Amino acid sequence: MKETSVWQGERREYPVLKENIEREIAVIGGGIAGFLTAFCLAEEGRQVVLIEADRLFSGTTGKTTAKVTCNQGNVYADLSRRYGKDVAALYYRSQRDGMQKIAALAEKYKIECDWTETDSYIFSSEAFEQLKESFSVLREAGADCEWVGKVKEVRAKCALKMGKQFLFDPLKFLTSLPVHFEIYEHTRAVKIDAAAKRIMTDRACISAKTIVVATHYPIVNSHGWYFMKLRQSTSYTLAVKERLVDAMYLDEKEDGLSLRPYAGGTLIGGEDHRTGRVGDGGHFQRLEESAKRLFGEVTVTHRWCAEDVMTFDGLPMAGKYAHGLDGVYVVTGFQKWGMANSAVCADLLTDLVAGRKNDYAALFSPQRKIYDSFGDFCSNALVNVAGLFAGYLGIPLKTSADVPLDEGMVVWHEGKRRAVYRDRDGKLYVIGSRCAHMGCELQWNADTHTWDCPCHGSRYDVYGNILAEPTTKRDQ
Ligand SMILES: Cc1cc2nc3c(=O)[nH]c(=O)nc-3n(C[C@H](O)[C@H](O)[C@H](O)COP(=O)(O)OP(=O)(O)OC[C@H]3O[C@@H](n4cnc5c(N)ncnc54)[C@H](O)[C@@H]3O)c2cc1C
Repeated sequence: MKETSVWQGERREYPVLKENIEREIAVIGGGIAGFLTAFCLAEEGRQVVLIEADRLFSGTTGKTTAKVTCNQGNVYADLSRRYGKDVAALYYRSQRDGMQKIAALAEKYKIECDWTETDSYIFSSEAFEQLKESFSVLREAGADCEWVGKVKEVRAKCALKMGKQFLFDPLKFLTSLPVHFEIYEHTRAVKIDAAAKRIMTDRACISAKTIVVATHYPIVNSHGWYFMKLRQSTSYTLAVKERLVDAMYLDEKEDGLSLRPYAGGTLIGGEDHRTGRVGDGGHFQRLEESAKRLFGEVTVTHRWCAEDVMTFDGLPMAGKYAHGLDGVYVVTGFQKWGMANSAVCADLLTDLVAGRKNDYAALFSPQRKIYDSFGDFCSNALVNVAGLFAGYLGIPLKTSADVPLDEGMVVWHEGKRRAVYRDRDGKLYVIGSRCAHMGCELQWNADTHTWDCPCHGSRYDVYGNILAEPTTKRDQ
């Protein structure tokens, strides 16, 4: 069994940025959002450079389940309650546009990316009032969807079904688009002077009139206060050899099952939780057991975990980074629906940079007033404060001698609070216990053997190398 996603094929390599450069537009982050934004801006003849901390698509984009669909379940009921039916309908139209944009690009460039039309089901086995509400909001918005009773494939009571939705291989798609802009890999932005429009990377500096921060979770803290408005959610995925379903399925519950067929069998996802709140682990095992309960024996070929950025109101954020900060843009908060959303946001940012109007500018504005978010804001703030204090208060009672084989713990080590992992041969791997982003105490994730930050979702390996943003520095 491989501990990687199924989308990791051959990829062209790009150089490291070693010299200072000045360009019209700099995009930071080579996931689907940054790449499509750079692509759309370059299509307009703009001079664009994109920098990526690791390899292109090595972040969440390379670990997605790649359903390209407007059928996003309860989001429509949530939006309708919070902002009204018109806003929910506008979001539906944005997703339809995003889906069509990806389809049009695949067709225009004749990209072979296993583009497949299929039905999409959001199913429910318990209370389904919210899902039914989403169904009626979608019908009013003109969506071609139906309410179905009994979905035998997943033994569910009912489902919201939409036809003409799509599946694809995201890496085959993205790596086949023409690249008419400059790309640097293994080039991490370590500091951004937003006012002076300068990006400091590990080895060089980029000056640009326009900067787009597409780092998944925004990395600039001095503006925009994103660290108070966003959280990250981790999900686990298994690839199994057996073809268990012919359409895409998603349980309406946040931590419920997600299923889709792919060229090598079936992808099974789920077990979502706030990043850093790992509990005792066992997520992959539970996912496999759920699959076995539904389908009998399965043969797992791959398994991996990834996280996505969540907003309080279920809408992504794309637009100006902060009030009064001209020429700096952000794109984030896809809520595990980043395929269609990235395409919509790439067009939106391209329009904003050009000074054009866009139908979705207000909907996705990072400065929008988020209604009914006081509770979410407080609970997010509490988690952040608790994570921060945990890193400073008290001396851990345990020392590195107490760390069992193949486990990680925050312990007292050589007079300091440290995050310590002991491998199966007894060797210790010691790193700082606080996240370099804002100082919250790291948590051991036994499923992935990583140190995860419960506040904003940065992740490190046992050597302290960065696996996921928003941190731009190694452990402290
Ligand atoms: C398990 C899972 C399943 C999902 N399934 C679906 C699905 O079926 N359909 C759907 O629509 N969406 C799905 N999503 C959501 C979707 O995959 C994501 O929203 C999307 O891939 C995010 O893209 P991104 O470009 O914002 O982020 P990323 O792909 O993470 O790209 C950000 C990039 O920025 C780079 N970076 C970070 N910091 C720096 C820095 N300082 N300097 C330079 N570069 C930096 C990172 O290395 C990374 O490559 C899923 C998400 C998860 C977690």
